[in-house]
Formats: sequence, C-alpha cells, structure tokens
Amino acid sequence: MANINDKNLKLAVQKQGRLTDETLEFLRKSGLEFESYKQRLLASCRNFPLEIIYVRDDDIPDYVASGTVDLGILGQNILNEESPKIKKLLNLRYGFCSLTVAVPKESEIKDIKELKGKTIATSYPESTKRFFKENNIPVEVVNISGSVEIAPALGVAQAIVDLTSTGSTLVLNDLRALTKVYDSEAVLITNEKTLKNHKKDLLEKLIMRFKGVLSAKDYKYVMMNAPEKVLPKIKKIIPGLKSPTVSSLATKGWFSIQTVIKEDMFWETIEKLKNVGASGIIVLPIEKMII
Ligand code: ATP
Ligand code: ZN
Repeated sequence: MANINDKNLKLAVQKQGRLTDETLEFLRKSGLEFESYKQRLLASCRNFPLEIIYVRDDDIPDYVASGTVDLGILGQNILNEESPKIKKLLNLRYGFCSLTVAVPKESEIKDIKELKGKTIATSYPESTKRFFKENNIPVEVVNISGSVEIAPALGVAQAIVDLTSTGSTLVLNDLRALTKVYDSEAVLITNEKTLKNHKKDLLEKLIMRFKGVLSAKDYKYVMMNAPEKVLPKIKKIIPGLKSPTVSSLATKGWFSIQTVIKEDMFWETIEKLKNVGASGIIVLPIEKMII
C-alpha cells in the first residue's frame, strides 16, 4: 500500500456500491485527479494534498469519529443512526433516497397506526424506533442487516422500514409503501479534531471547491438578445446574482444580455423573457461557480 502523508487530508468514500460512481464523479468535477481502479484501497490526489480511502460505507462513521480519517462521504441515512461526534459539512445533492415504511401488497394495513403491536424489520433500528415513538405507535423492531424486503414473506415481520428511491425494489418484492420516515442524500462529514488542527486551512480550500461544484449545479448561464426598449422589463424578470451584463450589438438599438438563472426557476423565467421580447436565448451549463 502507498504511504499515507500525515499532513494530507484523508477522505473515506464507499469502495463499491450505490454511492461510489457519483462520489468519484463529484470529486473529479471538483478538479481532483486520482486513481480509482477496482482493487484500489488508497489513492493520493495528484494535484491536491488529499488521500482517498476506499472502504465499506458502514465503517465511515467510525473512521471519521475516531480521527482515522478527516472526512467521509456517506448517506445521511447512516448518519441518522450514528453518534453525534460527527459533524456534517455539506449536502452533496446526489444519492437521493427515502427511508420508507412498507407492508406486503395484499396487506389490509392502510395507515401506520394499524401497525400497533406489529413487528417491523429494518436495518435502521434507531430511526425506526424514533419514528414510531414520535407517532405514539408501540411496535416491535427487529434489526436485519440485509435483504430486509423478504422479511414479511418469511413471516419474520408484518412491515419493513427500508431505503427506496424509485420504489421498484418494493414492487419487485410485492410490497407497498405506507409512508416516508425521512429523505436522504450523500453528505460530507468531518470530526471536531480536523476542524481545529493544522489541516483546517486545507479543509477550507477543499470545501470551497466542493461548494463551487454544488452552486454550479443549481444555476444556468443564459445569454439573449433584446431591443433597447425591453431592457428594463428584462432586468426586472432576471433574479440574477447581481445585475446582468448588458452589451450593445452591431445592430443599432439591440443588446446582448448575459446572466445566471437558478435552475428551479429556470423555465418560468425563460418563458417570461420570451414574452417580453428576448430572442436568440442560449443556455449553458456552468462548470464551477465561486460566490
Ligand atoms: P457497503 O458494501 O459499502 O456496505 P451497502 O450495501 O451498505 O454498501 P449500498 O446499497 O451501496 O450500501 O447503498 C449505499 C448508500 O446509497 C445508501 O446508504 C444510501 O445512502 C444510498 N442510496 C441511494 N439510493 C438508494 C436505494 N434505492 N437503496 C438503498 N440505498 C440507496
Ligand atoms: Zn453498507
């Protein structure tokens, strides 16, 4: 195994699983260059003092809490089961899923209240117990580490609490969702030690890079042309970061306008711009945005 430089930041990521591809893609988008072939357990970044350690996602909270590594990327769902020694730094906007309560498709249960006194199988016992306690529904919770979906068919439980994203795993196992316990996504975590020690400055640099990628994802760069008389209307519509850039075109009385638009208001804004007379609208993805 390669040597670990103690001055470098250490980041634990999932070695092989649902978060792996998107995590590596996110790190690369942040400008980090590193190896990631299958057998690899450790990789040093070529252009940033960072070591990437590939592990099982369940081990990441312990590695971070004990200070074995400085940072980790894992699902919020795992964090919700764990010790408060860990500090969340960022939501990473991928790995979306929900912890869901489900019953067999043909079950008569329509409401979670009807689960009173029943047995629930899950790999998320803490979240499950908390959820039913908050809802004042006494249930029996059995902890199963894998293949929770088959527990009802085996007669081990009358309902399950498990992660879903599209719901296709539930359908495949003849299960029906009753309600959601919480939503989850990939998060970046650290520990108190790293936030205070000599690696603090490096961590800030890395976070700035990560935030640059995250903000870029939320915005689009938009260019358009418009005659002078509609410029005031356009400026009112564009809820840009600052005021838009306006420059005159070769055709007299016409201007080119450049700005950024938030993804969630995108279509609404573009329609309004068209309606007031903007034309030649060009939309570009933003690679990075430092605000
Ligand atoms: P490991 O071998 O590392 O322990 P695992 O089997 O525990 O892996 P995966 O199934 O690879 O874990 O899921 C990793 C994470 O991906 C989950 O903890 C969750 O945050 C996220 N995720 C996203 N969508 C889903 C989904 N549909 N089902 C389960 N997890 C999902
Ligand atoms: Zn796991």
